[in-house]
Amino acid sequence: MESKKSNLHVLLVSFPAQGHINPLLRLAKCLASKGLLVTFSTTETIGHMMKEATNTKSTNIGQGELRFEFFSDGWEIDEPQRANLATWMHQLETAGRESFTELINRQSEMGKPVSCIINNPFVPWATDVAAEIEIPCAVLWVQSCAVYSIYYHFQHQLASFPNPDQRDMMLDLPSLPSLEFDDIPDFLTLNPFDSLRKVILSQFKNLDKAFCVLVDSFEELERETIEVMSRISAPIKPVGPLFRSTKNASIRGDIWKAADDCLQWLDSQSPNSVVYVSFGSVVSLSNEQLEELSAGLLKSGTPFLWVVKTPPPDMGSKPELPQGFKEEAEGKGMVVEWCPQEQVLAHSAVSCFLTHCGWNSSMECLTSGVPVVAFPQWGDQNTNAKFLIDVYGVGIRTKKTQREKDGIVVVTRDEVERCIFEVTKGPKAEEIKKNAIKWKEAAEAAVADGGSSHRNIELFVDDIQRMAS
Ligand code: UDP
Repeated sequence: MESKKSNLHVLLVSFPAQGHINPLLRLAKCLASKGLLVTFSTTETIGHMMKEATNTKSTNIGQGELRFEFFSDGWEIDEPQRANLATWMHQLETAGRESFTELINRQSEMGKPVSCIINNPFVPWATDVAAEIEIPCAVLWVQSCAVYSIYYHFQHQLASFPNPDQRDMMLDLPSLPSLEFDDIPDFLTLNPFDSLRKVILSQFKNLDKAFCVLVDSFEELERETIEVMSRISAPIKPVGPLFRSTKNASIRGDIWKAADDCLQWLDSQSPNSVVYVSFGSVVSLSNEQLEELSAGLLKSGTPFLWVVKTPPPDMGSKPELPQGFKEEAEGKGMVVEWCPQEQVLAHSAVSCFLTHCGWNSSMECLTSGVPVVAFPQWGDQNTNAKFLIDVYGVGIRTKKTQREKDGIVVVTRDEVERCIFEVTKGPKAEEIKKNAIKWKEAAEAAVADGGSSHRNIELFVDDIQRMAS
């Protein structure tokens, strides 16, 4: 059992989005299980949506404790966020700096001064606040180390990146496979993403002020890239997969209510028979793509569990499934707004995951031993898909083509059907499953006592203790 390190108080700060909250909250639980007092914070507007996590303001985890506190981003809790990304990020920083500083001061007034701050680099200003108050600060990088390398090389102009007129040009970076245009995060290469590119690159603004860069990956998965990037940027400690490092799966940071009854539905399905379909928390598909995907799922004859979420207020409208789909899908599949994904991927009825390849989803399926149909949409999803398929060998990537009836570029229903077949029953299916199991076992070993990620967490806690004494 971990001994209580009651003098240490770690404060985590998450960017207010599901894909950031999950890894930060998992790290929070992991550190609390080491006997630390840990406070998880994000903005009030998103915090009040994390009902399952925050209904109990404080939870004991082993000898440690996990608490929740939120800071203002300048919006009223129920006020729709109508600003564009640049304005919204500016307001988050302006209001957040002040309110977050107050939150830290409150901890001292309560007799629980903060010993260490961990932010995720989408809120780089938290590092400035830490420096002003003279509190050591570390960051948790929530994407792969390969993506860290790509962004870093772009930001520091250490390599030539193709522009849209150079689609045949390959990108070669140390320790990474040669990347084609479509494997590179398109925030870097395509013009419509200007403001997102600025946000992405601002992650490196304060990275050198952090005493450590933790990453939700593990040594056995990205060893060479971790070594290369530790040499040229900052020391990187892989501590993942974080969702496996913590046993308190019941404290979930979902901002949508999960349909837990889908687990009973999975219980009623045959082992290794269901395709799980989800595009994470941000991506919305066009109506044309929804039409093709739903027809492809039905055509595949495979039972499916499909997450079709309603976007948060003002981030889009509820996706419209094609007319008649619900009736046709009766008895063949289940459509939910949100699901407990960790448990779904661990369920024996699930045979494969058709995913948008966000980094959390990629890590979760890779280390649950679930084969992948990669259906990336944008950003680092393209790079994650490349690695899942060509480097880790755990699936197959969908191809987009022009639809015959209207010339719109989509993944067609035939392609959806083909990919599901290939990954579950095709000639490569056995090898894909073998690779998936290999990575699951490697991840289990990394987080087990004495494993690479377990050791890195212990070293990190030692670092905090040393700096606090
Ligand atoms: N997730 C979930 N239930 C769902 C869909 C997604 O719990 O129905 C979780 C998933 O387990 C992952 C996160 O939401 O931890 C999505 O993060 P990811 O990086 O995959 O994608 P993003 O939402 O950032 O695009």
